[in-house]
Amino acid sequence: MKTVFSPLHAGHGGQMELVAGAIVPGFEKPSRAEIIRKRVESEKLGPILAPEIHDLTAAKRVHAADYIDFLPTVWPQWEAAGKSGSAIPFAWPTRGLRGDVPPRNIEALLGFYSFDGGASFVKGTWDAIKSSYDVALTAAQLVKAGERAAFALCRPPGHHAGAAFMGGYCFINNAAVAAQWFRDQGATRVAVLDVDYHHGNGTQEIFYDRPDIQVINLHGDPMTEYPFFLGHADERGAGAGEGFNLNYPLPFGTSWAKWNEALEDACQKLAAYAPDVVVVSLGVDTFEKDPISQFKLTSADYPKIGARIARLGLPSLFVMEGGYAVDEIGINAVGVLTGFEGD
Ligand SMILES: [Zn+2]
Repeated sequence: MKTVFSPLHAGHGGQMELVAGAIVPGFEKPSRAEIIRKRVESEKLGPILAPEIHDLTAAKRVHAADYIDFLPTVWPQWEAAGKSGSAIPFAWPTRGLRGDVPPRNIEALLGFYSFDGGASFVKGTWDAIKSSYDVALTAAQLVKAGERAAFALCRPPGHHAGAAFMGGYCFINNAAVAAQWFRDQGATRVAVLDVDYHHGNGTQEIFYDRPDIQVINLHGDPMTEYPFFLGHADERGAGAGEGFNLNYPLPFGTSWAKWNEALEDACQKLAAYAPDVVVVSLGVDTFEKDPISQFKLTSADYPKIGARIARLGLPSLFVMEGGYAVDEIGINAVGVLTGFEGD
């Protein structure tokens, strides 16, 4: 399996985030991608390719144009306002406030275009976001060109980014961009299977009224787990998309047996949908030692996930999302891919 990777992700480093009442170094850090890259090499998964550069047309197929145009301006605006550190919002247009008037203040604009304070910017963040997008599209091209599967080693991740907002370490929704790109390239139906610990709220929102892109999520129950405000089982799509959004919220402490039951049901529904291609939002924060998550999967479980996805018999694009147990992130993420390959 070919991997697409860009070193530009590393510019998005040293950013801070708000956790449990303290501003701390981000859990979503450059070593995550580097450790996965090294594991791709040591496991001899296949060649590692640099991404081709794309314009932002494909991003604007799933995101609001004004949101995408805002992203490269964040750090320059932040610096022009005399600020340093990490660009993090602190006010959001929630219920009862105006969400239709973008203010001019950069901190306010960050709140306008986000749903939490979890997607902060430093100087190299935009270049990392753009490279992650290029990685996803380049890997999608490989699958379109006939590869059985490809691995988009994206960083930053994407599945919490909605049509017009960032959050949860995510800026451009790489999996959603790729899914739409496959449609635009002639695929009739595309499935997105999100196995990250956290609900892929952005992907759900983007495709919620669409019958042509099935979105399936296995995740921590939003009654107790981030992102809290989406991901319940009764969210099944709207309008023409009714029935094409499937959520499997699972309780705190879920281990392989119960998680795998949900995966099996999800894979059967995915197979019944008969998509032309599957996009896997690959998070490995379901791991028992993950510092911010609460499932109990072990390293031995990840190859079984890949093997089950392989049995779907569909062209498959793996898009890297979360996973914060950095020491094991390479073993677990690449474990899914070698499991897919049948090693
Ligand atoms: Zn996650």
